[in-house]
Amino acid sequence: MRLSSYVIFVPMERTGETVLVHGISGAVDRVSNEWARNMRAMRWDLFSEQDLADMMRRGYITEKTVEEERETAIRIGRRLREKAMRSASFILMPTIKCNLGCDYCFQNFLRTDGADTPSVDTRMVDAAFAAMAELQARRGARVDRILLFGGEPLLAENRPVLEHFFRKGAELGYRYEAVTNGTELHHYRDYLGPGKLEWVQITLDGPQEVHDRQRWARNGQGTYWQIKRNIDMALEQGVAVSLRMNVGWQNREAIRELVAEFDRYGWLRHGQFHPYCAPIRGEGGQQESTRLQRAVIRLVREMNAAYRPRYGRDVVAISGGVVRTKISRLLAEQPVSALTPAYCGAHLNMFVFSADGDIYTCWEGIGVPSARVGRFWPCLELDEESLSRWFERHSLNIPACQKCRYMFFCGGGCGIHALEHNDEFYSSYCNGFAELFRGHVEQAIAQLDDLEGVPIHQELGYSGV
Ligand code: SF4
Ligand code: SF4
Repeated sequence: MRLSSYVIFVPMERTGETVLVHGISGAVDRVSNEWARNMRAMRWDLFSEQDLADMMRRGYITEKTVEEERETAIRIGRRLREKAMRSASFILMPTIKCNLGCDYCFQNFLRTDGADTPSVDTRMVDAAFAAMAELQARRGARVDRILLFGGEPLLAENRPVLEHFFRKGAELGYRYEAVTNGTELHHYRDYLGPGKLEWVQITLDGPQEVHDRQRWARNGQGTYWQIKRNIDMALEQGVAVSLRMNVGWQNREAIRELVAEFDRYGWLRHGQFHPYCAPIRGEGGQQESTRLQRAVIRLVREMNAAYRPRYGRDVVAISGGVVRTKISRLLAEQPVSALTPAYCGAHLNMFVFSADGDIYTCWEGIGVPSARVGRFWPCLELDEESLSRWFERHSLNIPACQKCRYMFFCGGGCGIHALEHNDEFYSSYCNGFAELFRGHVEQAIAQLDDLEGVPIHQELGYSGV
């Protein structure tokens, strides 16, 4: 009998307890720190027979060898992946154009600023809807929302084509989300609200002077106050606002001031306002990027500790929405959809329809010929070889990840980052995942009044013994 290789211990700083998560069975339990210490030390003599039987049933302890447990993990991973593949998510990029001139934008290389910069027209929108219907039929999936991404998708000049898109999409039963810079959102006021454009992600990089230095309009004007007005408008219209703050070593203090401004604006009280901090992708290697990630998690903890007495909850989240979603699903007792061997949609089910008629699975791949997986204009054509190169990159196919307790939560990390840092697409990119995971579990559990043991997924035949 030994401690399973896939147990994750999450110390809860605030309560002095430990949360146990089993990376393969999906079990989650809260135990005392002493209990956790005895487990780590494999002091089985200190547990009752009943406790040992319970821990074995939930996967925390096992009679299997390391190799047998790895084989079980891979077998279950294949079944989880088969289920997860029967899904799809759609992103439409109406244009590559943007009205801002941020130096750090990863798409700057795509923009020529000339008449040639691609944008979709109404016929391309129709072709995109037809391709979406065909992809859902092929994959046995039902998709009810589309994310708009750019360039800046909600430019005022895009309105005629987006009116067509919103009208036709509504007839087909879609709702919408958008990653937008928020500067021209007021031109879409009549499309904002539940059942329509109901979620937006907007970025502010600091209080006005700091933000305006980074995110300025092409005419040289700052954008902070226009964005602020549009966030107020979106919240009034019932739109959920996910507020992204890009954090680097330079602007950490400015982020504290920015959150204090949110407090003054009354946004922190608003149930639809969800601010989060995202570490800026560093120039340095993986170690430097992990160091920044840790600093950002610390900053978020400190800010939450300062505001918790007034709000009774955490007010700022850590980036990594995919991890957050997986943990929320796990705690909502949906382990099968929570555990996925893929890091993000680019390695599982995502189709990005770009403004020039091509399809990608990763938005950072837009415009990179080797990342293209097909086209939707004039009709759907997939490059199956390229598609499977993207969709087959997951933790079951990366040897280092097969033995990792985070294999169904992390899934191998971002493929683009793995390629940049390791020169190998099919390699692991951990990037401080353990720390990120612990931070997210801590935040998610803090929102729960109580944590009963989360059931394991029996339908996939998991047996911890
Ligand atoms: S592969 Fe990386 S860059 Fe692409 S969508 Fe996934 S996380 Fe983002
Ligand atoms: S990338 Fe690292 S943390 Fe993620 S599954 Fe692989 S080994 Fe684990």
